[in-house]
Amino acid sequence: MSFLSAPYFHDEAAAYAELEATLWPHGPVCPRCGGMDRITTVKGGRIGLKRCGPCKRQFTVKVGTVFESNHVPLNQWLQAVYLMCSSKKGISSHQLMRTLDVQYKTAWFMTHRIREAMKSGRLPPLGGVGVTVEIDETFIGQKKDRPKVRGYAHKHAVMTLVQRGGSARSFHVDGTSAADLLPIIKANVEPGTRVMTDEAGQYAHLNKHFTEHDFVRHGAGEYGRGETHTNTVEGFYSVFKRGMKGVYQHCAEKHLHRYVAEFDFRYNNRARLGVGDQQRTENALRGVVGKRLTYRRTNIQA
Ligand SMILES: [Zn+2]
Repeated sequence: MSFLSAPYFHDEAAAYAELEATLWPHGPVCPRCGGMDRITTVKGGRIGLKRCGPCKRQFTVKVGTVFESNHVPLNQWLQAVYLMCSSKKGISSHQLMRTLDVQYKTAWFMTHRIREAMKSGRLPPLGGVGVTVEIDETFIGQKKDRPKVRGYAHKHAVMTLVQRGGSARSFHVDGTSAADLLPIIKANVEPGTRVMTDEAGQYAHLNKHFTEHDFVRHGAGEYGRGETHTNTVEGFYSVFKRGMKGVYQHCAEKHLHRYVAEFDFRYNNRARLGVGDQQRTENALRGVVGKRLTYRRTNIQA
């Protein structure tokens, strides 16, 4: 039986039960007073409706999540989360619109809310003694109001830190000078780490901040020697760039941080780390809390 035939993708009550089990492992929690005592199911109320005895607030498990206040049935939301988690490069809003048979605007909004859920909060720095972190940057898309020129001035810059055998962390950056990148690198990588880059000038002084800094001389036709290479971060970018090109042709700058989070999420929950499609979907579901995104704030663009 395929995972997609699970009842909670097809039945709204089952979808509520699944989300409740994921977000309330110890039983329902009132979003107003935080209480867990005397919470009852409202008889004859809509699916999943609960009532807090002490503060009398009525609520469902959707309150305070990215699924809140919209007309999309929860089982369709869960299908969308699964679809975004199970395809290597993600799926576009157009594809989701066709698959779920919803309006484009709805599909667009759903994909962006799910990307919010995939965002990680504040995390401890990567690396450490004996650990290698590869750092590189890439350029994608095209900035508005900038003519296409040689070089990268008209493109958006993204920097990624990848711990070998571990996770990736990507950032939409203003530029690729040392002033743009170094503060982010220092805040996200342990000083005891061995860092690995190419020979670009912005990385020239990393050895002042980290135990060891090795670099590959791509300009000299070098791809790497032994442990000195940036193949891991380049592998991450090959998926990222193919995904952004094929699936996400029109990505407004203000949304780029969310796309970047989506690719980080799938990489950090990849099959090679033993995370299957079902587990990845459940991990994304755990991220739906506390990240509400409203139509007004995102200022929808097709
Ligand atoms: Zn309450």
